[in-house]
Amino acid sequence: MNKLVLNSESLSNVLENKTISREEIIQIYENSEKNPSELFSTAQMLREKFKKRAVTFSKKAFFNIVNLCKDTCSYCTYKAEPGEEKISLMSKQEIKQLLILAKKYRCVEALFVTGEHPEHRYQEARDWLKTNGFKSTAEYLIHSSELAVEMGLFPHTNAGNLNKEDLKELQKSNVSMGIMLENISERLTKKGMPHYLAASKKPKARLEVLEHAGELRIPMTTGILVGIGETPIEIIDSILAIRKLQEKYGNIQEVIVQNFQPKPDTVMNNFPSANENYFKIVVALARIIMPKMNIQIPPNLSPNSYHSFLTVGINDWGGISPLTPDYVNPEFSWPEIKKLEQNSKNAGFELKCRFPVYPEFFSYVGKELRDKMKVIEDEEGLVRQEYWQ
Ligand code: SF4
Repeated sequence: MNKLVLNSESLSNVLENKTISREEIIQIYENSEKNPSELFSTAQMLREKFKKRAVTFSKKAFFNIVNLCKDTCSYCTYKAEPGEEKISLMSKQEIKQLLILAKKYRCVEALFVTGEHPEHRYQEARDWLKTNGFKSTAEYLIHSSELAVEMGLFPHTNAGNLNKEDLKELQKSNVSMGIMLENISERLTKKGMPHYLAASKKPKARLEVLEHAGELRIPMTTGILVGIGETPIEIIDSILAIRKLQEKYGNIQEVIVQNFQPKPDTVMNNFPSANENYFKIVVALARIIMPKMNIQIPPNLSPNSYHSFLTVGINDWGGISPLTPDYVNPEFSWPEIKKLEQNSKNAGFELKCRFPVYPEFFSYVGKELRDKMKVIEDEEGLVRQEYWQ
């Protein structure tokens, strides 16, 4: 049997709800490099089958709590060094003020982001914690999350490799949490590779956090970074690692497929951005590997073509803020929500606003948080239109 016939057979199997093997996925990838149309149409059919004609987003405010970080990834422009203008060490008062503003803008999500354990490396971070009355960044995050809930917002924390105890405490006030797997390859942590100076990005360390979140039944967002020097096999293995976690725990609520974009003042500033055709193939592979998963691309990182990804399997745009920049990708502003809605509509999809936790995972969320969500929730478990528009 020739390879193209095998390709068609494997893709038909996916449509019949059969799990696809690693060998079949590699074969599909190799065939799609020459002609991706069959892969794209299968991804599109699966998307239609499981996600209908809606595309979701989360209306958020980005809280750049502290951007000092003990690690260094070669592509990162988020991390600051002491003395740099972009440094962020938010005080309790600043957090409160931004929460008030977020509420005024009718944001739903309070996204809390920090660098990796900043107090393990920087005296400035230890002083900042002391001034605000906390012993650790995690403790500060717990306080901030509780305040957000009190003020009617729904926290989603993304603070790197939190330990199991901290995850458990944060779970009480966070409706979901996030950590990017980035890539499962050890090779990317070797000398000269993007994660060489980032111990927290070692696949084993990342997987441990995701395993803990699974054991605790926390709705988790994870994802992969595409175009940082990985091989296609490594990207396939990374998606398969997420599928394995999902099969074991069932708590992965969405997968972000993020395209690398080079940033000024980083080691990788001359590295090319992820090739769009390759990126689309990876997105479509994610859909056929996990047909029911919520799959997201950040629209600001593909400003001229994001709507075309609706035809290769995505069903979510992630968090979009009408109020704060994307501090992780400050060169790429988020599209205006109205524009996003129009572009989604032009592509044949209806934009809907979701909570930071997807409806499929509401049973994972504590009663107190669920009661607060119900105030602005519609019959589909999404945010009522009159609240976010
Ligand atoms: S990507 Fe995260 S872990 Fe890596 S340097 Fe930036 S803030 Fe630190």
